[in-house]
Amino acid sequence: MSESEKKVILVTDEGIRTDGRKVDELRPIKLEVGVLSRADGSAFIQQGGNKILAAVYGPRELHPRHLALPDKAYLRCTYRMATFSVDERKSPAPSRREIELSKIIKEALEPALFLEYFPNSVIDVYIQVLQADGGTRCASVTAAALALADAGIPMRDLVTACAVGKADGRIILDLNDIEDKEGDADIPIAMMPQLKRITLLQMDGHLTEKEFQEAINLGINGIMRIYEMQKRALREKYLKIREEVVGAEKSEPKAKNNENTNESKSKGDEKE
Ligand code: UDP
Repeated sequence: MSESEKKVILVTDEGIRTDGRKVDELRPIKLEVGVLSRADGSAFIQQGGNKILAAVYGPRELHPRHLALPDKAYLRCTYRMATFSVDERKSPAPSRREIELSKIIKEALEPALFLEYFPNSVIDVYIQVLQADGGTRCASVTAAALALADAGIPMRDLVTACAVGKADGRIILDLNDIEDKEGDADIPIAMMPQLKRITLLQMDGHLTEKEFQEAINLGINGIMRIYEMQKRALREKYLKIREEVVGAEKSEPKAKNNENTNESKSKGDEKE
């Protein structure tokens, strides 16, 4: 085997990965809710090198009308990668992969939504990958669920997703781009964490039954950690709103007091 054909080492004997993580370690994750003021709900996720925006509109009138469902809302998910999101410029035309990912993201989110509350309408979920680094479908599901919650869509549970896989004989959590491409297996998992229901499970590669069980357990463990971050991100938005309201209330009596003082002053002035 020539030097250039040698396989890249993804996990060292000590269990350290190309980006310095341990096998069961997540990439650094940043979640933010309510980042777009024009959308009904929105969220941003940064997971390692992934940077993804999700925006939700609706429930609203559906066009074209023939897509309308008489018993529930139509969930329309659109996953797109920006032309500058990958190393090689991506064509702006929707690719087969983007159409497929839009479909599986819709299927991962749908069980969590009370779509039956909004017959004949549409809930639009737009996902824009600004920078991709492996596992974008999972990060997209995590961000889209937050954007749906932010839009006030009634939900049974949040949906959280994370990929797990295998590289150099080890089961690894939250694969990055190189691990996704050069690794031996990749399993994206999405789940409603409270209800313990898996809503997306795909697999690319080969695993023994024992490895598969280990991978699923590790994936669920990662999902539960991301779920805590999702809840924190939602709480942070409402804490900010509360601070603003309390701040406004605190400054209001002052303003009123000032008004009263001015009033009594002017009344006093009048008396004089
Ligand atoms: N990717 C790329 N060009 C493309 C599509 C994908 O370089 O046109 C990269 C990108 O980093 C992505 C990774 O390949 O995250 C893995 O893509 P995959 O189809 O497995 O989906 P993902 O792992 O992002 O859910």
